[in-house]
Amino acid sequence: MESAGSGAFDGGGGGAPAGVPARLPAVNDPASPSPVPGSRVSAGGPVAPEAVLPWVRSAVEAGRVLILTVRSLRSGSHLTYRLRPFKRGPSDRGAGHLEMVDVLTGPANTADYTFIGAIYFSPRGSITVLTGARTENPNGGHGSSISDDAPSAKTLRGLFERLARGQGPAPAAEVWHDGTCARCGRPLTTPESLERGIGPICAQKGGSEDGEG
Ligand SMILES: [Zn+2]
Repeated sequence: MESAGSGAFDGGGGGAPAGVPARLPAVNDPASPSPVPGSRVSAGGPVAPEAVLPWVRSAVEAGRVLILTVRSLRSGSHLTYRLRPFKRGPSDRGAGHLEMVDVLTGPANTADYTFIGAIYFSPRGSITVLTGARTENPNGGHGSSISDDAPSAKTLRGLFERLARGQGPAPAAEVWHDGTCARCGRPLTTPESLERGIGPICAQKGGSEDGEG
């Protein structure tokens, strides 16, 4: 079901942001800077390029669910990903962090996520991202139903390859963190809503209904 992944690029014409390689195996990050948790992360705009990796690492190391949106400056479309820590046994302590990754594939931004891949943060600082059928689910399940070639899979791999090298997002891409609607408190994931601080429904009529974007 490749369409599930590509569909998130609504009105697309997009594909992955410029400079995103089609495929990437393991990559290393020998010069990982020490993270300054929460620093330089602004609420009303994209995360500063150099702050993306420290922000991601701090969430991963704290075991928090992380929601990030990647926006293509060329097409204006965006993709929202959710990283959730894979639970391990006590004997796995010190073995790094394994994150299961979902991509938002529907209008309900708390529910409509589809499993897309996995990212492994090793104790030595390297980052490995797998998508598609190659994704080995540690639970013994199968890989993602979203193909390796789907824009959402390419974008995910491209972003984390750059981060692993100590680079920011591609020049034609921005990373946004999620927020909540100032009126109703529901999650916001689209750059437009995040910039405004209010979801589309509340922005229109000041009410508080379901399904903010
Ligand atoms: Zn709202």
